[in-house]
Amino acid sequence: MSRPVVELSGVSRSYPGGVTALRTVDLRIDHGELVAVVGPSGSGKSTMLHLIGTLDRPSSGTVRIDGHDVSSLTDRELSALRSRRIGFVFQQFHLAAGVPVLDNVADGLLYAGVPRRQRRRRAESALVRVGLGHRLGHRPHELSGGERQRVAIARAVVGEPALLLADEPTGNLDSASGASVLALLRDLHTLGTTVLVITHDRQLAADLPRQVMLRDGRVVHDSGPLPAVRS
Ligand code: ADP
Repeated sequence: MSRPVVELSGVSRSYPGGVTALRTVDLRIDHGELVAVVGPSGSGKSTMLHLIGTLDRPSSGTVRIDGHDVSSLTDRELSALRSRRIGFVFQQFHLAAGVPVLDNVADGLLYAGVPRRQRRRRAESALVRVGLGHRLGHRPHELSGGERQRVAIARAVVGEPALLLADEPTGNLDSASGASVLALLRDLHTLGTTVLVITHDRQLAADLPRQVMLRDGRVVHDSGPLPAVRS
């Protein structure tokens, strides 16, 4: 049986000032899927990412992450859920400047209560996995954009999250680096990570196994999981 990692039921999000960014959205993503959420600017993608990432709560409807109803959790429980089960990758990388990449990645385990030596060991293996085992002591400014994003991905997956959320992960990269970052996300997916990529790039989305299209805060198309995923 497949297990849902994300379940949105009738989710709406309105902002003060009267903007409704999401309108009664239903979405289920199962463990092991690789999904693109695609839509033009202003369609509600970031709002959806914030809700799925438990960085925000819906105005109405239910958000369940890995079986937990977000509305029933305290802020403290929510940050524990977030730090243990969700990895984030952003367009802007968000690496600590001047800090060696090994420590940048090891810091991804700070809130999981992992001892320092183990943090560094796991960070090294995450960096090897993303093809940067030869760059452990480099600082972010000594790396290319594509390499920086690989570091960010290593940091996001070092805690082996149930869900990897990537917000326009190739948005700041040239096409060759973007393609290799996407290939890396595919590799992680093949190894079992559930990956959700937010993008305005329809071409990028079309290359992924499932596309969820947003427009004006509604899901206007969902190609659905591949049959193998649901089996
Ligand atoms: P996307 O990521 O697809 O560009 P967003 O989720 O950022 O879309 O935005 C959806 C709509 O909600 C837009 O009309 C945007 O202006 C509005 N919006 C987003 N964040 C806020 C906010 N904090 N306050 C008010 N309106 C917002």
